[in-house]
Amino acid sequence: MDTKIGNSLPGGYCNSLTAYSRWHTREVSIGDVPMGGTHPIRIQSMTTVDTMDTQGSVEQTIRMVEAGCEYVRITAPSIKEANNLAEIKKALRKRGYTVPLVADIHFTPNAAEVAARIVEKVRINPGNYADKKKFDQLNYTEAAYRAELDRIYTKFAPLVKICKAYGTAMRIGTNHGSLSDRIMSHYGDTPEGMVESAMEFIRICEDLNYYNLVISMKSSNPQVMVQAYRQLVEKMVAEGMNYPLHLGVTEAGDGDDGRIKSAVGIGTLLEDGLGDTVRVSLTEEPELEAPVAIALINRYTNRQVKAEPVETVRNESYSADLAPSPYRTEEVNAFIGGSLVPRVVVDISRSNLKDPQVLTDAGYRYDILLDKYHMGEQSVDFVYLADELPSFTMPGNLKQLYNYQTWRGIRSKANIHPVYQLGEFITATEKDSQLNLVRIRRADLYTPAFESLPLDKTLVFVVETDELHGMADQRLFFSAIRTLGLTNPVIIRRYYAPEAFSGPAGDFMSPEEPVSKLQLYAATDMGALLVDGMGNGVWIDSPATPLNKLVATSFGILQATRSRISKTEYISCPSCGRTLFDLQETTQMIRSRTNHLKGLKIGIMGCIVNGPGEMADADYGYVGAGPGKITLYRGKEVVKRNVQSADALDELIEIIRGDGRWIDPE
Ligand code: SF4
Repeated sequence: MDTKIGNSLPGGYCNSLTAYSRWHTREVSIGDVPMGGTHPIRIQSMTTVDTMDTQGSVEQTIRMVEAGCEYVRITAPSIKEANNLAEIKKALRKRGYTVPLVADIHFTPNAAEVAARIVEKVRINPGNYADKKKFDQLNYTEAAYRAELDRIYTKFAPLVKICKAYGTAMRIGTNHGSLSDRIMSHYGDTPEGMVESAMEFIRICEDLNYYNLVISMKSSNPQVMVQAYRQLVEKMVAEGMNYPLHLGVTEAGDGDDGRIKSAVGIGTLLEDGLGDTVRVSLTEEPELEAPVAIALINRYTNRQVKAEPVETVRNESYSADLAPSPYRTEEVNAFIGGSLVPRVVVDISRSNLKDPQVLTDAGYRYDILLDKYHMGEQSVDFVYLADELPSFTMPGNLKQLYNYQTWRGIRSKANIHPVYQLGEFITATEKDSQLNLVRIRRADLYTPAFESLPLDKTLVFVVETDELHGMADQRLFFSAIRTLGLTNPVIIRRYYAPEAFSGPAGDFMSPEEPVSKLQLYAATDMGALLVDGMGNGVWIDSPATPLNKLVATSFGILQATRSRISKTEYISCPSCGRTLFDLQETTQMIRSRTNHLKGLKIGIMGCIVNGPGEMADADYGYVGAGPGKITLYRGKEVVKRNVQSADALDELIEIIRGDGRWIDPE
């Protein structure tokens, strides 16, 4: 039965902009693990072995289930693989694993129609189910567009009917990089186009009275992905739909970058109360993805019960000034704000301030022989020393921050600036002529003290929060000061107590866990603001995290939100049964020779069928074209076809060099 819902949400695209409240979606049945409604947010991932390798697929699926996956997706590039899903399923059931299987389909309706009779769910990509991607920017007349929709209906309806007959669920999974030419012609590769791409297929399903649907809007760019999901929800609600959402950042890459990028996109939407299942896509073994997804969603277990709504003095109903939107600021003496990239602040007051080498972790490498510091792309902008004075000379371009009273006592104040509590700033008898940082909480905005705050152009806010739903609290701070007409820059500060990383039993599960959880939490909390254009700096305070990791996480969040580019970006696919080379090894090899090319985006894709489409906005592409063969791209244009894989990286570097974008590493 279809259940229609109201045609608007109080928070626009979510239930509330001030309280954690999960958007209630319809329940979808997927084997014996239902999704949506009041069910927990589900974890899933995808196998990487060849689907024809039954034993390998079974073993990998079991490892994924043991790691926490509640659904396992397997690629079915042709009828042969689709048929083999039956063997995989049989072997799993024989060993007692009832995990629902999902067939992943691109370009091959005939494989989908076979798979839908075997597995519990089929994923189709609306960009390539009935369309071959030509990268042509065609112009469609209204009549031609409608004729296209009729053609899709004819091609897609048989699958829908099979799913209905067999009780199979379906994910309509839009990818930013693989929109059809028809959608591109009308909407471009925009979030709106991504939404419409899915809506075309959803409407056909509804026309056939089929509602067992899950929807996704993936992109390798978290900003695009967040906007697409939000617009999707608004659109669905306007049309009386509430299908569950599958969240994911596609081609996120590997290691810390992949985790941070995933957390920015997925975490932002989870904060909005959106999402019924999560797949973290890493270029790593698939069983390593589930723990990341689990750490992301566990923060929301019981949040609705534990967190008070963040109080607001305005009516909580949706209004333009509560909605996330950029906060525009004036530049403060070339230090921060305006059009300057967001700044990075770290606390070094707990470090050994007798040793200049301590700054190496903050991006300033001290050369003893020359007695000078070398900076890099990830050198922090400010260090906070609280009340501790270093016994060595700081680098000339590093700004030091001290608590106000200590700052007053420092004789030579070049590059040295004060940090005040709100009350201190109001009563201060001495101020810095260039830069004054004031720590503030949102609740302070409504006090008489704030009314008497002497605002001037040197003032920068450091916004903090004690709320469990801290992102909403800080977002409301931005909304409030925007409404007040302020333009002072704001540094987002979050404190993570060591206990924030403890597991259910109160113990760390592994020595790396505090670091990886910090990455995920901070990327969610700060990324959710930065993707919406709020924040002129980040200050992550986590006593349990080594300084170098804090710095890397800060720059990683800025890179993932595309607000400050400090390194090469790798858009690498997670690999699957179609993959034609070892993605992890190849990614490392490419990274080892290109990771100094700041700002360049390099796509590393396992297959030519999907790879070029999925590379999205990569500047260059390294794509598996056949066994031992690589095709190289500049954007979407093929530059060299079928290069021997042993030569492919050298050839890619030559292309980059020929374009004038190569620089020799130091
Ligand atoms: S691009 Fe990668 S993950 Fe996507 S289908 Fe090809 S090999 Fe599989």
